[in-house]
Amino acid sequence: HHEGEHTCCSEKPLKNVKNIIAVASGKGGVGKSTFAVNLAVSLAGTGAKVGLIDADLYGPSIPTMFGLLDAKPEVVNKNLVPLEKYGVKLMSIGFLVDTDTAVVWRGPMASSAIKQFINEVDWNELDYLIFDMPPGTGDIQITLVQTLPLTGAVIVTTPQDVALADVSKAVSMFRKVNVPILGLVENMSYYELPDGTKDYIFGHHGGENFARTHGLEFLGSIPIDREVREDGDNGTPYVLGHSGSATSIAVNRAAMEV
Ligand code: ADP
Repeated sequence: HHEGEHTCCSEKPLKNVKNIIAVASGKGGVGKSTFAVNLAVSLAGTGAKVGLIDADLYGPSIPTMFGLLDAKPEVVNKNLVPLEKYGVKLMSIGFLVDTDTAVVWRGPMASSAIKQFINEVDWNELDYLIFDMPPGTGDIQITLVQTLPLTGAVIVTTPQDVALADVSKAVSMFRKVNVPILGLVENMSYYELPDGTKDYIFGHHGGENFARTHGLEFLGSIPIDREVREDGDNGTPYVLGHSGSATSIAVNRAAMEV
């Protein structure tokens, strides 16, 4: 027996993962999962080994966004084998129970599900493991940011004041536990009209201004785009089919910062 050479259970979880990134938001519905999916696919496109954990237990959308609604992970040696698509290894509560079941879980059950995603899934070696966090700053989020060896967090928001109010709380949560915030992405920044002018539906530059006043790196603006929504619903991540659009440029830029 040599110290440090055993491969069983006492090993540090995720020790072969180089970067663990939380994608977080203040509110739900701002595009956090959409961004997390496209970030993961973009990183995989650079040749990196990437995993994505759907930690949004009460609203898992990764199965839909990857077109894997009926997929079930295999169990090998008591560990779950992540599903894999578009070069990304995936785990979601949506692969394990039907969504209506997870909705009624209380805190401890939700926490233990996420611990299982960390300790009992064969992630093997990864360059990046992305956590699609639940929105906001509830108990699950706090447990996660305290227990995971996070490299950093990326925050997604819309420019709207009601969304930004909750982003402040998320920023405080990460800072309290000394998790670096790698930057802020503004989603649904504007809608481009057929004549090329921009309609700032949710307010003008709210995310960018927030980033500046809170000392956060601004990673870019993603417009409201029917194709982003359709690609999410169809399970074909947007960045795969749209190089060079404003959205893909913003996502790829964020991928370079994480
Ligand atoms: P969250 O993870 O913050 O709850 P989602 O990523 O699930 O948000 O996005 C909520 C809805 O908005 C989804 O239907 C998604 O397809 C859509 N959506 C997200 N970003 C955009 C965008 N930039 N343009 C159009 N629709 C978007």
